[in-house]
Amino acid sequence: MINFEEIKNQFDKDIKETKEIEKLEIKYLGRNGVINDLLKKIKEIPQEQKKSYGQKVNELKTSIKRLIEVKRKELAGKKSEVFFDKTLPGKSYPKGSLHPITYTIEEIANIFQKIGFVRVSYPEVEWEYFAFEALNMPKDHPARDDFETFFINYPKDKKYGKIVLSPHTSSGQTREMKRVKEPPIRMINIAKCYRPNWDITHVPMFFQFEGLCVDHNINITHLKGTINYFVKNFFGKDREIRLRPCHFQFTEPSFEVDVSCKVCGGKGLLNNKKCKVCKSGWLELAGTGMVHPNVLKAGGIDPNQYSGWAFGFGPERCMMMKEEMKIDDIRILYNGDIRFLEQF
Ligand SMILES: [Zn+2]
Repeated sequence: MINFEEIKNQFDKDIKETKEIEKLEIKYLGRNGVINDLLKKIKEIPQEQKKSYGQKVNELKTSIKRLIEVKRKELAGKKSEVFFDKTLPGKSYPKGSLHPITYTIEEIANIFQKIGFVRVSYPEVEWEYFAFEALNMPKDHPARDDFETFFINYPKDKKYGKIVLSPHTSSGQTREMKRVKEPPIRMINIAKCYRPNWDITHVPMFFQFEGLCVDHNINITHLKGTINYFVKNFFGKDREIRLRPCHFQFTEPSFEVDVSCKVCGGKGLLNNKKCKVCKSGWLELAGTGMVHPNVLKAGGIDPNQYSGWAFGFGPERCMMMKEEMKIDDIRILYNGDIRFLEQF
């Protein structure tokens, strides 16, 4: 008995897969094709079934013819769609890039790695102890008011206090001393810091990079030489630095680092008028100083044997000063606006 169902299923399968409709047409509708074979077999069919058998073959033939025509049109349409004109200019697709701060951080890390500083990273979620006490800022010290801090809802530890989001990279100083145990230490710690401020000059998440150098007989000349090396490599050979006395809890003595203005060449004057960028020839860049003996002690290092210096810079500020970028609102660095990011 002929199984029409099976033939139809086979045809459906064939037509789905075929790319050459003519071959399929010959296979089913050709002189020696499936349909003609079925018609030839009619003589084997008992007389009383001949009529319905003939009808079934005809139905199948009509259906196959119709489906082949549909497929033929479909394939012709596809052919014109995939036609490829190699003389047409190519399409360019939107391409992302690294964030400008990421580039800056890589550059800073490379500069310090060349003179033997090891890049480390320490917890962004930190014990209060490492963020403050170990840095010579006891609980009741007014300096801690300067740090408005994000506190984490977690049980307090007897020694280490509450858990905070690290408000500065300086928390890494004591951790690095404890890790190394015996100087020399040459650390560069570049990390995210958090403080709950959100206005045109503050973002709640920002970066800092912290340099720490501890060894025998380390003094301010080493500090000045290292910052000078960084500034010349990052900002350009013609830039100068100066240290201005200042106060920080974790360094003694402490300084602000200024860098000479590129626009007026550090003169403060441009065409006999006050330079609009710097007003004085200098721009504030960072904070630094000799590591306070109490901080060395907290790190397990004997301040009678060793001395050291530390500095803290903001990569965002460095980038803006290097590119002479005038950003009215620093939040644009982190709000993910593609129109800003596309410029890098
Ligand atoms: Zn200037």
